[in-house]
Amino acid sequence: MIKSKEIGSLIVISGPSGAGKGTVIQEVLKDNPNSWLSVSMTSRKIRPGEEEGVNYYYVSEEEFKQKIEEGYFLEYNNYVGNYYGTPKEYINKKRLEGKDVILEIEINGANNIKKLIDDAIFIFIMPPSWKELKRRLENRKTETKEKIIKRFQTAYREINEVTKYNYVVVNDDLEETVEKVKAIMLAEKCRVDRIEEVYLNSDEEILHEMLIDSKEFVNETPKID
Ligand code: ADP
Ligand code: 5GP
Repeated sequence: MIKSKEIGSLIVISGPSGAGKGTVIQEVLKDNPNSWLSVSMTSRKIRPGEEEGVNYYYVSEEEFKQKIEEGYFLEYNNYVGNYYGTPKEYINKKRLEGKDVILEIEINGANNIKKLIDDAIFIFIMPPSWKELKRRLENRKTETKEKIIKRFQTAYREINEVTKYNYVVVNDDLEETVEKVKAIMLAEKCRVDRIEEVYLNSDEEILHEMLIDSKEFVNETPKID
């Protein structure tokens, strides 16, 4: 009775460093094989445990700037001293294949996506408290004390931007957070603005029996009590 757009959603996920975005997204991907996480390019150094082409494509600052010149990025930004950018190549292709594309990017990048793609969905992942954010950043053991402070200062500014997003999820209990993000993605599939066509199948037999041949049916519009 309705035909909805088959194009995949574009989901932009932001939140302070250490809020748990990466962890949440990996869980969502496990449960939603139809989702695809865009792998960004960065000029920051690879961290222990990260993999080229899985977490990021790692390049030097010069190479990154060269890619900017070539128009390689859908959006890019410099975040606490390093460049990060979304390669534009696969985003539309994946969406047209029906995949839900996830971008994990910071707030300025998200603002740029908002200007470029009008049906993008914006989710902000919030830490439950400053204390817990500090604990998570320290426990992750990926940054020096100085870099943690820089990320904390950035987080302090970023949290004020939450109202620009469509959804906010506080990442306290991981399982609950993952369920909420999955629920948002599912609900977005039911939006009426995804409808391409409503068709009434007026020659279907059941419609003749119930409406068209019935005495109740007086004009073109079916009477609904
Ligand atoms: P981000 O991608 O936002 O920078 P990460 O996904 O790397 O954050 O998470 C930061 C740290 O917090 C990691 O060590 C991760 O295991 C931990 N973490 C993520 N979510 C939770 C949660 N709900 N409860 C406790 N620890 C969490
Ligand atoms: P990290 O160094 O912790 O991996 O990432 C730092 C920040 O950069 C995070 O907030 C992350 O969301 C953001 N980021 C990662 N990739 C991109 C990207 O392609 N574009 C933008 N604008 N930000 C990104």
